[in-house]
Amino acid sequence: MRKEFLTYGLPLIEEDDIAEVVDSLRSNWITKGPKTHEFEKRFAEYIGVKYAIAVNSCTAGLHLALVAAGISEGDEVITTPMTFASSANVIIHTGATPIFADIDPVTMNIDVNEVRKKITPRTKAIIPVHLAGHPCEMDEIMELAKEYNLFVLEDAAHAVYTKYKGKLIGTIGDATAFSFYATKNLATGEGGMVTTNDEALADKIRIMSSHGMSRNAWNRYSASGSWYYEILHPGYKYNMTDIQAALGLSQLAKLERMQGVRLEIAERFNEAFGKMPELEIPPEKEYARHAWHLYILKLNLEKLSIDRTEFIEELKKEQIGTSVHFIPVPMHPFYRDTFGFQKGDFPQAETTFERIISLPLYPKMSKQDTEDVIEAVERIVERFRK
Ligand SMILES: *Cc1c(COP(=O)(O)O)cnc(C)c1O
Repeated sequence: MRKEFLTYGLPLIEEDDIAEVVDSLRSNWITKGPKTHEFEKRFAEYIGVKYAIAVNSCTAGLHLALVAAGISEGDEVITTPMTFASSANVIIHTGATPIFADIDPVTMNIDVNEVRKKITPRTKAIIPVHLAGHPCEMDEIMELAKEYNLFVLEDAAHAVYTKYKGKLIGTIGDATAFSFYATKNLATGEGGMVTTNDEALADKIRIMSSHGMSRNAWNRYSASGSWYYEILHPGYKYNMTDIQAALGLSQLAKLERMQGVRLEIAERFNEAFGKMPELEIPPEKEYARHAWHLYILKLNLEKLSIDRTEFIEELKKEQIGTSVHFIPVPMHPFYRDTFGFQKGDFPQAETTFERIISLPLYPKMSKQDTEDVIEAVERIVERFRK
């Protein structure tokens, strides 16, 4: 057994990342400035999209995109129960009502047939979430959106490298929000990006990310700038800083390499766990290039004498950190009490939740770390198989 605890998730910060941040500090531009603009440009090039707007989180990006799309009180926005709460919280921030459509139990992504059932005359938008880095069925979602004139906002917090039928996520929906939170595939500590090909939408998002101001600090304080600005809307303070963008630039440059390590670990896990009938490995549909943000293992509980929570405790005793993605949003007290959700409302999300564990998977893990995770899981399965 390992001597040291293996942390569930860590960023990969190397000397080039540190140098880039120091460069930003020495330049005196520490908030949104040249590095943020450069990061926006390079990210847009990488994704292959016309516009990329850097923000201080994915949550902020999701909120801004909904605001820019005109979502407000009286509207309904459909999303998945199997996501981080912020995908739904932002709907509430706009005054609209979140509507949950149950998941496909295999991919754990939103089930398009369930979305169809939840559409009403008030429905204005859909927020699909590419859970773990596996893409949603975007053709079906875009078709449904066209039929009902819905705005499609992709939550790509896990999907910075994900492809759907050969297309990078970020190029398909009306807008896409990415996360650069500390443990995400590309990490700036806190940070996010919204991509879109719609110029008017991009302008609104940009303006609303900085107080609704007609010119940002970079336009005002640089040599060619002017002191004059106007407030066009009561906007938000959601911009990225150059210190974050510095990390974004160096992380983007090594994304391919980091993804290579993620894939190696995922393949090793699949090889080991695929042989065990007590476990179900993550799917990879033929339309997918998986970003392997998360490795979500499903337990076949009927073949084990312990439940998911006990399995996690056993992994902890083996010095392996884990997490669960996610507690279905409608089960959280605010959502349960406000909307009166009950057990059985989202049967697929609820039963899936009982059997999932996210294992450590990140580029900083050594080959030995990966083998330690495998051995720990194997030992627990052997001990508790029925
Ligand atoms: C991490 C995460 C977010 C929020 O990202 P932030 O950048 O922390 O705001 C949103 N949705 C999902 C699915 C996430 O995992």
